[in-house]
Amino acid sequence: MKRVLITGAAGFLGSHLCDRFIKEGYHVIGMDNLITGDLRNIEHLFKLEHFEFYHHDITKFVHVPGHLDYILHFASPASPIDYLKIPIQTLKVGAMGTHNLLGLAKAKKARMLIASTSEVYGDPTVHPQPEEYWGNVNPIGPRGVYDEAKRYQEAITMAYHTFHGLETRIVRIFNTYGPRMRLNDGRVLPAFIGQALRGEDLTMFGDGSQTRSFCYVDDLVEGIYRLLLSDYAYPVNIGNPAEITIKEFGEEILKLTGANQKLISKPLPTDDPKQRRPDITKAKEILGWEPKVSRAEGLKITYEYFKSLPQEILFDRKHRFE
Ligand code: UDP
Repeated sequence: MKRVLITGAAGFLGSHLCDRFIKEGYHVIGMDNLITGDLRNIEHLFKLEHFEFYHHDITKFVHVPGHLDYILHFASPASPIDYLKIPIQTLKVGAMGTHNLLGLAKAKKARMLIASTSEVYGDPTVHPQPEEYWGNVNPIGPRGVYDEAKRYQEAITMAYHTFHGLETRIVRIFNTYGPRMRLNDGRVLPAFIGQALRGEDLTMFGDGSQTRSFCYVDDLVEGIYRLLLSDYAYPVNIGNPAEITIKEFGEEILKLTGANQKLISKPLPTDDPKQRRPDITKAKEILGWEPKVSRAEGLKITYEYFKSLPQEILFDRKHRFE
């Protein structure tokens, strides 16, 4: 039986990856320090014989008994609100955490896939963004701690690949959504749906003309699964190229939820990228992958998830870091 270690297992993407690898018949070892992760996301897996969980901070030495075939590194705060609140941990998990896991992968002769991000492109001057674009990142801005940690993560992963011959994979993830996003992580989708459900106006930052391209989580997981099993060691964009302005996105959420509130404008955060859309030519050619779930379908499923949350979670405005 193949054994896979997934860090950030209790997070949004990590938990969906745990589900997928269990479904594929793997022995899954989840790891999370639970700073931003939530055990409720993987509660259903604890009864399974082939799921284990370690409550561990990977910026400290990581030990896992037995052999490992794959390591998927998905531990990191990933929303602007989180990395404003825990900037040092964000840097540490991308830098020291990745280094520890690369060491583990080398010792176990495991293949390592790292979660990189469209943030490596910063506020892009090339549109859409192909993997060859080097980006436009402000290293000392509020997003710098995340963007530079992820850029360092790519650099050290490539160095282990070229210097130690380690098998590595790098996925550059664009905006992704779906069930299990944290309601109060500050990201636009949970923010808008939460506000719609609570009867509040939707907080659009700036004039809402900035664009994003939203990928449904099942599509993303499929792309990651294919990349892991491929033999391609260089970065691959995985995301949905369907681009939309944040204003249009807010209007879609109002329509979907039937809420009769309005969009109100709040100040645009520093260094908020003006436009973002993945060029997925590589994913198509190398992995035969492209997204299948339309925004209409994906948003409906996601809305149902948020609607089903207990009222105390919906109305709990507090966040551990607030
Ligand atoms: N955004 C917004 N209202 C919110 C939260 C976010 O208008 O309540 C905007 C944000 O300024 C950005 C876009 O939505 O332009 C996506 O933000 P998110 O934090 O989801 O992701 P990222 O900026 O990292 O792509």
